[in-house]
Amino acid sequence: MFDFILNIFNPKHLLPQPLSDFQKSLVNNYNKKARNGTLAYEVLPCLCKQQVFKTLLKYGRLGEWSPVVICQKCGLIQCNPRLTEEEYGRFYSTDEYRELYGGKTFLKEQEKKFVENNHIFDDLASVMKKRDLNTILEVGCGGGWNLIQFKKSGYSVTGLDYSEESIQQGKTYGLNIRQGSIKSLSEVNEKYDVIILNHVIEHSTNFFNDMNLITQKLNKNGIIYIGVPNIDNCHLAQFHNAHTLYFTPRTFLHYMSLCGLKEIDFGSAQKIHMYGIFKVMQDRSNQKDGLDNEYARMIKKVRFEKLKFVKAVLLKILGIKHLWQLFLRE
Ligand SMILES: [Zn+2]
Repeated sequence: MFDFILNIFNPKHLLPQPLSDFQKSLVNNYNKKARNGTLAYEVLPCLCKQQVFKTLLKYGRLGEWSPVVICQKCGLIQCNPRLTEEEYGRFYSTDEYRELYGGKTFLKEQEKKFVENNHIFDDLASVMKKRDLNTILEVGCGGGWNLIQFKKSGYSVTGLDYSEESIQQGKTYGLNIRQGSIKSLSEVNEKYDVIILNHVIEHSTNFFNDMNLITQKLNKNGIIYIGVPNIDNCHLAQFHNAHTLYFTPRTFLHYMSLCGLKEIDFGSAQKIHMYGIFKVMQDRSNQKDGLDNEYARMIKKVRFEKLKFVKAVLLKILGIKHLWQLFLRE
Protein backbone atom coordinates (compact mmCIF):
# COMPACT_ATOMS: atom_id res chain seq x y z
CA MET A 1 0.00 0.00 0.00
CA PHE A 2 2.77 2.47 0.93
CA ASP A 3 4.55 1.68 -2.31
CA PHE A 4 1.35 2.32 -4.22
CA ILE A 5 0.89 5.73 -2.58
CA LEU A 6 4.54 6.61 -3.09
CA ASN A 7 4.28 5.87 -6.77
CA ILE A 8 1.47 8.41 -7.05
CA PHE A 9 3.25 10.97 -4.87
CA ASN A 10 6.61 10.97 -6.51
CA PRO A 11 9.51 12.17 -4.30
CA LYS A 12 10.08 15.12 -6.63
CA HIS A 13 6.93 16.71 -5.15
CA LEU A 14 8.97 17.45 -2.07
CA LEU A 15 12.17 18.83 -3.53
CA PRO A 16 13.11 22.04 -1.67
CA GLN A 17 14.00 23.64 -5.01
CA PRO A 18 11.93 22.66 -8.03
CA LEU A 19 13.79 21.21 -11.00
CA SER A 20 14.79 23.55 -13.79
CA ASP A 21 13.31 22.90 -17.24
CA PHE A 22 16.73 21.61 -18.27
CA GLN A 23 16.79 19.07 -15.40
CA LYS A 24 13.19 18.04 -16.08
CA SER A 25 14.08 17.29 -19.69
CA LEU A 26 17.12 15.23 -18.51
CA VAL A 27 14.94 13.22 -16.09
CA ASN A 28 12.25 12.62 -18.73
CA ASN A 29 14.88 11.60 -21.22
CA TYR A 30 16.49 9.25 -18.67
CA ASN A 31 13.16 7.57 -17.83
CA LYS A 32 12.34 7.22 -21.51
CA LYS A 33 15.69 5.51 -22.14
CA ALA A 34 15.12 3.24 -19.10
CA ARG A 35 11.68 2.26 -20.40
CA ASN A 36 12.58 1.62 -24.04
CA GLY A 37 15.68 -0.43 -23.24
CA THR A 38 18.29 2.08 -24.50
CA LEU A 39 19.93 1.91 -21.07
CA ALA A 40 21.41 -1.47 -20.11
CA TYR A 41 20.26 -2.80 -16.71
CA GLU A 42 21.19 -5.93 -14.79
CA VAL A 43 19.81 -7.84 -11.81
CA LEU A 44 22.46 -8.92 -9.33
CA PRO A 45 22.60 -10.91 -6.10
CA CYS A 46 23.21 -9.06 -2.82
CA LEU A 47 26.74 -8.71 -1.39
CA CYS A 48 25.75 -11.60 0.93
CA LYS A 49 25.22 -13.70 -2.26
CA GLN A 50 21.48 -14.15 -1.58
CA GLN A 51 18.88 -12.93 -4.01
CA VAL A 52 15.69 -12.45 -2.01
CA PHE A 53 14.61 -8.83 -2.08
CA LYS A 54 11.69 -6.64 -1.10
CA THR A 55 11.07 -3.44 -3.07
CA LEU A 56 11.15 -0.22 -1.04
CA LEU A 57 11.07 2.56 -3.65
CA LYS A 58 10.77 2.86 -7.41
CA TYR A 59 11.91 6.44 -8.01
CA GLY A 60 14.85 8.55 -6.91
CA ARG A 61 14.66 12.06 -5.57
CA LEU A 62 14.37 13.73 -8.98
CA GLY A 63 11.67 11.34 -10.16
CA GLU A 64 14.14 9.20 -12.13
CA TRP A 65 13.41 5.47 -12.28
CA SER A 66 15.66 3.89 -9.67
CA PRO A 67 14.30 0.78 -7.93
CA VAL A 68 15.54 0.41 -4.35
CA VAL A 69 15.26 -2.98 -2.64
CA ILE A 70 16.25 -4.49 0.71
CA CYS A 71 17.90 -7.91 1.05
CA GLN A 72 15.73 -10.12 3.21
CA LYS A 73 18.78 -12.04 4.40
CA CYS A 74 21.26 -9.35 5.51
CA GLY A 75 19.14 -6.17 5.38
CA LEU A 76 21.43 -4.34 2.96
CA ILE A 77 19.50 -1.74 0.95
CA GLN A 78 20.53 -1.49 -2.69
CA CYS A 79 19.50 -0.50 -6.20
CA ASN A 80 18.28 -3.52 -8.18
CA PRO A 81 18.00 -3.86 -11.14
CA ARG A 82 20.64 -1.26 -11.82
CA LEU A 83 22.62 0.10 -14.75
CA THR A 84 25.42 -2.17 -15.89
CA GLU A 85 28.97 -1.19 -15.02
CA GLU A 86 29.58 -0.05 -18.60
CA GLU A 87 26.42 2.05 -18.61
CA TYR A 88 27.43 3.73 -15.34
CA GLY A 89 30.85 4.48 -16.86
CA ARG A 90 29.15 6.34 -19.72
CA PHE A 91 26.77 8.07 -17.32
CA TYR A 92 29.60 9.51 -15.19
CA SER A 93 32.04 10.43 -17.95
CA THR A 94 29.53 12.44 -20.01
CA ASP A 95 28.66 14.96 -17.25
CA GLU A 96 25.00 13.93 -17.68
CA TYR A 97 25.24 12.83 -14.05
CA ARG A 98 26.54 16.17 -12.76
CA GLU A 99 24.07 18.13 -14.89
CA LEU A 100 21.18 15.97 -13.71
CA TYR A 101 21.92 16.66 -10.06
CA GLY A 102 23.54 20.08 -10.23
CA GLY A 103 21.91 21.60 -13.32
CA LYS A 104 23.88 23.39 -16.03
CA THR A 105 25.69 25.47 -13.44
CA PHE A 106 27.28 22.51 -11.64
CA LEU A 107 30.83 23.81 -12.19
CA LYS A 108 29.93 27.17 -10.64
CA GLU A 109 28.30 25.36 -7.69
CA GLN A 110 31.37 23.18 -7.25
CA GLU A 111 33.56 26.29 -7.08
CA LYS A 112 32.10 27.05 -3.63
CA LYS A 113 33.37 23.74 -2.28
CA PHE A 114 36.98 24.87 -2.65
CA VAL A 115 36.53 27.49 0.07
CA GLU A 116 34.08 25.71 2.39
CA ASN A 117 35.17 24.16 5.69
CA ASN A 118 36.54 20.69 5.13
CA HIS A 119 35.38 18.11 7.64
CA ILE A 120 37.57 15.38 6.08
CA PHE A 121 40.72 17.31 6.94
CA ASP A 122 39.43 17.77 10.51
CA ASP A 123 38.61 14.05 10.82
CA LEU A 124 41.93 12.84 9.37
CA ALA A 125 44.65 15.32 10.34
CA SER A 126 45.23 14.11 13.92
CA VAL A 127 45.18 10.41 12.95
CA MET A 128 47.70 11.10 10.15
CA LYS A 129 49.99 13.00 12.48
CA LYS A 130 49.86 10.25 15.09
CA ARG A 131 50.66 7.54 12.53
CA ASP A 132 53.16 9.68 10.59
CA LEU A 133 51.29 9.41 7.28
CA ASN A 134 52.10 11.76 4.40
CA THR A 135 50.85 10.69 0.97
CA ILE A 136 47.16 10.91 0.10
CA LEU A 137 45.14 9.58 -2.82
CA GLU A 138 41.51 10.58 -3.25
CA VAL A 139 39.46 8.55 -5.71
CA GLY A 140 36.34 10.33 -6.99
CA CYS A 141 37.80 13.66 -5.91
CA GLY A 142 35.64 15.89 -8.17
CA GLY A 143 37.67 19.06 -8.61
CA GLY A 144 39.83 18.09 -5.62
CA TRP A 145 38.31 20.44 -3.03
CA ASN A 146 38.84 17.92 -0.22
CA LEU A 147 42.57 17.90 -1.00
CA ILE A 148 43.17 21.66 -0.86
CA GLN A 149 43.68 21.87 2.89
CA PHE A 150 45.99 18.82 2.90
CA LYS A 151 48.08 20.37 0.13
CA LYS A 152 48.30 23.66 2.04
CA SER A 153 49.48 21.72 5.11
CA GLY A 154 52.34 20.19 3.14
CA TYR A 155 51.00 16.72 2.39
CA SER A 156 51.56 15.06 -0.99
CA VAL A 157 48.14 14.78 -2.67
CA THR A 158 46.87 12.95 -5.76
CA GLY A 159 43.30 12.89 -7.06
CA LEU A 160 41.35 10.81 -9.57
CA ASP A 161 37.94 11.60 -11.05
CA TYR A 162 35.80 10.69 -14.04
CA SER A 163 34.85 14.26 -14.95
CA GLU A 164 37.25 16.04 -17.31
CA GLU A 165 35.61 19.40 -16.57
CA SER A 166 36.04 18.96 -12.81
CA ILE A 167 39.69 17.96 -13.29
CA GLN A 168 40.39 21.12 -15.30
CA GLN A 169 38.72 23.13 -12.56
CA GLY A 170 40.94 21.51 -9.89
CA LYS A 171 44.09 22.11 -11.92
CA THR A 172 43.53 25.86 -11.65
CA TYR A 173 44.17 25.34 -7.91
CA GLY A 174 47.48 23.64 -8.67
CA LEU A 175 46.23 20.19 -7.66
CA ASN A 176 47.72 16.96 -8.98
CA ILE A 177 44.55 15.33 -10.32
CA ARG A 178 43.80 13.25 -13.39
CA GLN A 179 41.06 11.22 -15.02
CA GLY A 180 40.52 7.79 -13.53
CA SER A 181 38.43 5.57 -11.28
CA ILE A 182 39.01 2.77 -8.76
CA LYS A 183 39.31 0.38 -11.71
CA SER A 184 42.20 2.36 -13.20
CA LEU A 185 44.20 1.75 -9.98
CA SER A 186 45.10 -1.68 -11.33
CA GLU A 187 47.43 0.16 -13.77
CA VAL A 188 49.05 2.28 -11.04
CA ASN A 189 52.22 1.17 -9.26
CA GLU A 190 52.28 3.75 -6.47
CA LYS A 191 51.01 3.06 -2.99
CA TYR A 192 49.67 5.65 -0.57
CA ASP A 193 49.51 6.25 3.18
CA VAL A 194 45.92 7.47 3.09
CA ILE A 195 43.18 6.73 0.57
CA ILE A 196 40.05 8.85 0.65
CA LEU A 197 36.76 7.58 -0.80
CA ASN A 198 34.19 10.23 -0.08
CA HIS A 199 30.77 9.42 -1.52
CA VAL A 200 32.25 6.85 -3.86
CA ILE A 201 31.48 3.43 -2.38
CA GLU A 202 27.71 3.95 -2.50
CA HIS A 203 28.19 4.20 -6.30
CA SER A 204 30.20 0.97 -6.53
CA THR A 205 29.17 -1.60 -9.13
CA ASN A 206 31.74 -4.17 -8.05
CA PHE A 207 32.08 -3.69 -4.30
CA PHE A 208 34.49 -6.47 -3.23
CA ASN A 209 36.76 -5.97 -6.27
CA ASP A 210 36.84 -2.23 -5.73
CA MET A 211 37.70 -2.56 -2.05
CA ASN A 212 40.34 -5.15 -2.84
CA LEU A 213 42.01 -2.80 -5.35
CA ILE A 214 41.93 0.02 -2.82
CA THR A 215 43.51 -1.99 -0.01
CA GLN A 216 46.26 -3.19 -2.38
CA LYS A 217 47.26 0.45 -2.99
CA LEU A 218 47.73 1.12 0.71
CA ASN A 219 51.20 1.39 2.28
CA LYS A 220 51.93 -0.62 5.41
CA ASN A 221 50.20 1.11 8.37
CA GLY A 222 48.08 3.05 5.88
CA ILE A 223 44.48 4.02 6.49
CA ILE A 224 41.32 4.43 4.40
CA TYR A 225 38.76 7.17 4.91
CA ILE A 226 35.29 6.29 3.64
CA GLY A 227 32.34 8.69 3.66
CA VAL A 228 28.86 7.42 2.67
CA PRO A 229 25.22 8.41 3.20
CA ASN A 230 23.83 7.02 6.47
CA ILE A 231 20.58 5.46 5.30
CA ASP A 232 19.28 5.18 8.86
CA ASN A 233 18.20 8.76 8.13
CA CYS A 234 16.07 7.64 5.15
CA HIS A 235 16.49 11.19 3.84
CA LEU A 236 14.87 11.92 0.52
CA ALA A 237 18.04 13.46 -0.90
CA GLN A 238 19.90 10.17 -0.36
CA PHE A 239 17.90 8.19 -2.92
CA HIS A 240 18.95 8.56 -6.53
CA ASN A 241 19.85 6.49 -9.54
CA ALA A 242 23.62 6.91 -9.12
CA HIS A 243 23.54 5.09 -5.76
CA THR A 244 23.89 1.32 -5.94
CA LEU A 245 24.40 0.61 -2.21
CA TYR A 246 22.66 2.24 0.74
CA PHE A 247 24.51 1.56 4.00
CA THR A 248 23.37 1.84 7.59
CA PRO A 249 26.13 2.02 10.25
CA ARG A 250 25.63 -1.75 10.82
CA THR A 251 25.84 -2.84 7.17
CA PHE A 252 28.68 -0.37 6.54
CA LEU A 253 30.92 -1.75 9.29
CA HIS A 254 29.87 -5.32 8.54
CA TYR A 255 30.82 -5.19 4.85
CA MET A 256 34.03 -3.24 5.52
CA SER A 257 34.93 -5.96 7.99
CA LEU A 258 34.34 -8.58 5.27
CA CYS A 259 36.86 -6.60 3.16
CA GLY A 260 39.41 -7.09 5.93
CA LEU A 261 39.10 -3.56 7.31
CA LYS A 262 38.85 -2.61 10.96
CA GLU A 263 37.45 0.77 12.02
CA ILE A 264 39.69 3.05 14.05
CA ASP A 265 37.19 5.91 13.97
CA PHE A 266 33.54 6.26 13.06
CA GLY A 267 31.23 9.26 13.15
CA SER A 268 28.57 11.31 11.44
CA ALA A 269 29.30 13.81 8.66
CA GLN A 270 27.28 16.65 7.15
CA LYS A 271 24.24 15.75 9.29
CA ILE A 272 22.84 12.89 7.17
CA HIS A 273 26.05 11.08 6.23
CA MET A 274 28.67 9.04 8.10
CA TYR A 275 32.35 8.24 7.84
CA GLY A 276 34.71 5.55 8.97
CA ILE A 277 38.50 5.52 9.15
CA PHE A 278 39.83 1.99 8.68
CA LYS A 279 43.07 0.06 8.89
CA VAL A 280 43.78 -3.35 7.40
CA MET A 281 43.04 -6.20 9.82
CA GLN A 282 46.05 -8.20 10.84
CA ASP A 283 43.90 -11.04 12.05
CA ARG A 284 40.91 -11.82 9.85
CA SER A 285 39.37 -14.09 12.49
CA ASN A 286 37.89 -10.94 14.08
CA GLN A 287 35.70 -10.31 11.06
CA LYS A 288 32.15 -9.40 11.96
CA ASP A 289 29.39 -11.66 10.85
CA GLY A 290 25.65 -11.70 11.10
CA LEU A 291 23.20 -8.89 10.54
CA ASP A 292 20.39 -10.85 12.16
CA ASN A 293 17.97 -8.05 13.00
CA GLU A 294 18.88 -5.66 10.22
CA TYR A 295 16.06 -6.54 7.82
CA ALA A 296 13.30 -6.28 10.45
CA ARG A 297 14.81 -3.08 11.85
CA MET A 298 15.02 -1.36 8.47
CA ILE A 299 11.58 -2.46 7.27
CA LYS A 300 10.08 -0.86 10.38
CA LYS A 301 12.11 2.31 9.90
CA VAL A 302 11.30 2.69 6.20
CA ARG A 303 7.56 2.23 6.91
CA PHE A 304 7.68 5.00 9.49
CA GLU A 305 9.56 7.33 7.13
CA LYS A 306 7.15 6.59 4.28
CA LEU A 307 4.21 7.50 6.48
CA LYS A 308 5.87 10.82 7.30
CA PHE A 309 6.55 11.32 3.62
CA VAL A 310 2.92 10.77 2.62
CA LYS A 311 1.80 13.22 5.34
CA ALA A 312 4.27 15.78 3.99
CA VAL A 313 3.00 15.39 0.43
CA LEU A 314 -0.63 15.74 1.53
CA LEU A 315 0.17 18.89 3.51
CA LYS A 316 2.01 20.31 0.54
CA ILE A 317 -0.90 19.57 -1.77
CA LEU A 318 -3.24 21.25 0.73
CA GLY A 319 -0.96 24.26 0.52
CA ILE A 320 0.11 24.28 4.17
CA LYS A 321 3.61 25.18 3.11
CA HIS A 322 5.35 25.72 6.43
CA LEU A 323 3.88 22.63 8.01
CA TRP A 324 4.98 20.19 5.34
CA GLN A 325 8.53 21.44 5.59
CA LEU A 326 8.58 20.41 9.25
CA PHE A 327 8.36 16.81 8.12
CA LEU A 328 11.57 17.01 6.17
CA ARG A 329 14.84 17.08 8.02
CA GLU A 330 17.57 18.95 6.24
ZN1 LIG B 1 22.16 -9.52 1.58
